[in-house]
Amino acid sequence: MIQRIKGTMDIMPDETPLFRYIEGIMREEAEKYGYGEIRTPTFENTELFVRGVGDTTDVVQKEMYTFADRDEHRSISLRPEGTASVARAIIENGKCSDPMPLKYYYIISCFRHEKPQAGRSREFFQFGTETFGSDSPASDATVIALAASVLRRLGLTNVKLHINSIGCKECRPKYREALVEHFGAKKSCLCDTCKERLDKNPLRLLDCKNPDCKAIAELAPKTVEHLCESCENKFKMLTAALDAMGIEYVVDPSIVRGLDYYTGAVFEFIAEGIGAQSTVCGGGRYDGLVESLGGPKLSGIGFGMGITRLILAMRELGVADVAPKLPKLYIAALGERAMIKALEITERLRRLGSYVECDVVGRSLKAQMKYANKIGAEYTLIIGDSEIDAGKAQLRNMKDGEQREVLLDSFELAW
Ligand code: ATP
Ligand code: MG
Repeated sequence: MIQRIKGTMDIMPDETPLFRYIEGIMREEAEKYGYGEIRTPTFENTELFVRGVGDTTDVVQKEMYTFADRDEHRSISLRPEGTASVARAIIENGKCSDPMPLKYYYIISCFRHEKPQAGRSREFFQFGTETFGSDSPASDATVIALAASVLRRLGLTNVKLHINSIGCKECRPKYREALVEHFGAKKSCLCDTCKERLDKNPLRLLDCKNPDCKAIAELAPKTVEHLCESCENKFKMLTAALDAMGIEYVVDPSIVRGLDYYTGAVFEFIAEGIGAQSTVCGGGRYDGLVESLGGPKLSGIGFGMGITRLILAMRELGVADVAPKLPKLYIAALGERAMIKALEITERLRRLGSYVECDVVGRSLKAQMKYANKIGAEYTLIIGDSEIDAGKAQLRNMKDGEQREVLLDSFELAW
């Protein structure tokens, strides 16, 4: 038996209605907020993610699925996230001179070689949005409002918004110095990756999952205490906008985000009661990204929302029961002639848009009725030789048992 790859999942038909329900709300909300759907390739040149996500991140250093292309010695990677591809696509498709802002959303699967556990898989599903061309906190607040709106519609009252600002090119150097000083004093206690990061990108140390590094990170200087005047004002305006929009939040200095391209506002929506993997949505500003990929100077902000983690949070709250679509009619058939008649009627009704099933197994009447019950049919119609000869049959309402006679040839008129 060949089994599926560790960290991947089969989503069976009893679960797809929940996925579709969630995805439907995401699409509706995104479009309501003026976002258009973008679809980019599942794999890209590895270089895109190295530059776009950052070569000091866990995602690039440890988690990417990278392989050599078959016909050329080109390195390719399965996308570990969506932002870099969207930034590449807007440059490549000449959108950077369109009227701003540019607003895109996507629902995609991403691939990361992580240790599989509840809420963490190697292929995972993500709803994401990207907004380019506005560096105003007004767009930060709008993006956060969209994410909050999706979570609200899903009934997730156990999710809290945490926000922070990690500063810009102006405030970074001083903050970086403060971090190097803090972590440098405890260098011998850091993990090997972090020892290296200390020189290359000390901000990443705040994001390390190693328990020793984490403990040291908790006492590290906070970004909000090192913001330049402009970043501080922007952060104030963001909180004022969220207040005005009625969106609750907590300012949380520990939110720094795992990707290199973030600047300014960062945020996470964290669910209570779903275990360690509790960040259902993470996002922030990435004002340097487009330029670093060879495009013009263009600010951006976005988020990614993990669909399987949302489901965990919904189950925890008991709001994950989505009614599956049930067939309206089941046609039971006795014998070959009846089976063909049943197929004929079923097809006619389906073409008219009805949700109908008929017997294709050749079971006994009793077994067919049991099946009709199992699939939740609202009505049943039983056809045998005598019904075909008479041209009529009994349509039975499965709820109250009431029956009425219908003509087979013009059944759709009675239906
Ligand atoms: P984490 O700290 O949980 O590893 P991250 O910072 O790596 O998250 P992002 O790159 O910001 O995550 O991805 C956005 C969202 O996608 C996360 O908030 C989470 O909901 C989801 N996500 C990320 N990695 C996984 C994964 N391996 N399995 C399932 N969902 C994931
Ligand atoms: Mg991660």
